[in-house]
Amino acid sequence: MRILVIGAHPDDCEMKAGGITALYRAAGHQVKFVSVTNGESGHHRYPLEELKKIRLAETQAVAKLMGIEYEVLGNRDGRLQPTIEARFELIALIRRYQPDLILTHRPNDYHPDHRATSTLVCDAAYMVIVPHIVPEVPALRVNPVIAYLSDHFQKPIPFEPTVVVDIGPVLESILDQMTCHPSQFHEWLPWTMCEENKIPADAAGRREYLRQFLKRFNGPLADRYRDVVIATYGPERGKSIEWIEAFEPCEYGSPLTDENKKTLFPMLP
Ligand SMILES: [Zn+2]
Repeated sequence: MRILVIGAHPDDCEMKAGGITALYRAAGHQVKFVSVTNGESGHHRYPLEELKKIRLAETQAVAKLMGIEYEVLGNRDGRLQPTIEARFELIALIRRYQPDLILTHRPNDYHPDHRATSTLVCDAAYMVIVPHIVPEVPALRVNPVIAYLSDHFQKPIPFEPTVVVDIGPVLESILDQMTCHPSQFHEWLPWTMCEENKIPADAAGRREYLRQFLKRFNGPLADRYRDVVIATYGPERGKSIEWIEAFEPCEYGSPLTDENKKTLFPMLP
């Protein structure tokens, strides 16, 4: 299978789908990460041009680590708009990769680039099968299944996952992926949370910081969707699972059915 994860920034795919990616890769499936923006705004010190290069190198470290493709598009970070040009670029990209499954942000999210990325993917969804749109790249015959990555926003509609994946066994891989982005997880994001002085100097301390960082953002998911976790993994294992990634089908892709769910999410019991 071919899985396409489309995030707005270089590190979104890792944070929301790094675990399921490790599971897909272990089973021999192909995964591609896309950052729709170039990440140039995500730092308090580096100039834009320098940061762009640093973040591109960070994505390629993840690509090497995970054995995946990681493409960073040229759209400017913090300024993404759902334009026709950006939509056509994504239609061409999706057609060339021919994914079985696309994972992306939801349209309601705090970050304007996340919202715009979601809009772009939703707007590309049906158009990928329309030959007269972007005629230079052959159209797909079948619309891929699309699912949303998790978020915690409640208004106007909260995230409602139907797919939850136990990522406890691959937690270290997510930390490895985060380690590829020191400009983010050890510099910029701590700075945005006014805790840049809390970053340990030693490797073990820095890794523990990443674990706690992930726990703050991902940790509440398993309890928040415990009913779905128990329905998926049964009462015994379902109660003890601590770390999950969660996905909600997007209505603009092909439907996620009981049948194709078994194929698209082969790690589920
Ligand atoms: Zn982002």
